[in-house]
Amino acid sequence: MVENILENIFKIEIPLPNNPLQALNSYIIKGKDRTLVIDTGMNREECKTAMLDGLAEIGVSLKKIDFFITHMHTDHCGLVASLVKSFPMIYCSRPAATGIAALCRPEYWDKAKAIGHLIGFPEQELQYAIDNHPGNKYCPRGKMSFNILKDQDTLSVGGYNFTCIETPGHTKGHLCLYEPKAKLLFSGDHILADITPNISLGLTYENDLLLAYINNLDKISLLDTSLVLPGHRSLITNCKARIRELKKHHKLRSDEVLSILKNGSQNAYQVASQMTWDMTFETWEQFPVLQKWFACGEAMAHLKYLEEKQLIYKDEKEKAYYYSLSERSKDIASCCWAVTLTQAKFF
Ligand SMILES: [Zn+2]
Repeated sequence: MVENILENIFKIEIPLPNNPLQALNSYIIKGKDRTLVIDTGMNREECKTAMLDGLAEIGVSLKKIDFFITHMHTDHCGLVASLVKSFPMIYCSRPAATGIAALCRPEYWDKAKAIGHLIGFPEQELQYAIDNHPGNKYCPRGKMSFNILKDQDTLSVGGYNFTCIETPGHTKGHLCLYEPKAKLLFSGDHILADITPNISLGLTYENDLLLAYINNLDKISLLDTSLVLPGHRSLITNCKARIRELKKHHKLRSDEVLSILKNGSQNAYQVASQMTWDMTFETWEQFPVLQKWFACGEAMAHLKYLEEKQLIYKDEKEKAYYYSLSERSKDIASCCWAVTLTQAKFF
């Protein structure tokens, strides 16, 4: 399904069958010589057919397309090696390029499995999660060339002059594209309207990606925007209001994690099983294994954030990380959590 949003800007809805995200928004900026495709969908037939049909409807030649990839997740990058025969030009951040190139390597998923052990993910569910992870099943396979972009780099196409905005959080190498004159923001999965972007620690434990995410919401709120074009679902007209909602959501989440840990030391899997999730299943046991995996990733991001704030600490037990409230957190009465988190720039 193609929608003409503004002059030379089109949206193709790429279906993501059997995925809670439902679809990806791919944006096409049609230029005189080259056309820029912002995010692609997964490397699977349903996505490829929708993309090819959409590009044909817009009248774009596959020989003249380049890609801008907001981040390394396969719902955004999966098709980059399947639409153009040899060495497509992919504009993205350095961490995204490294991630995209690594997704189809077994070593990448060995690391994911090791993280699964640290989370406390049950052994009988772990291999299923790794084998069926969309990043593993639908990764781009083929020759690729990357053109690395960093903060404030520019791209001109279709009469628009875009500026890259580095926005680590949803992933380490997430980039948004901003067009100051038209006040447009292509937000990838940094800001979504109807669902909350998943903030996960990914395969490295060293980055506090939730703190980065919160700071990069503040960075975006300084921009003058009239229309935000996100990677999934509805477009956004009031960016600042949505940012306030997203920050409030994560503050409540962090409070919830602290209150769960009042019951004693727990691993990320145990914490995630008690958090509130916007899902139709009544119990944690009914969650599909992959949804448990993503929930644990988000729990880990909150645990890392609270650990960096010294409100909790971790121990390693039976090859998994267990988290407990710190003395510092016990010094602060529960009524003061809000104060602590205010200092953490949630508001
Ligand atoms: Zn996405």
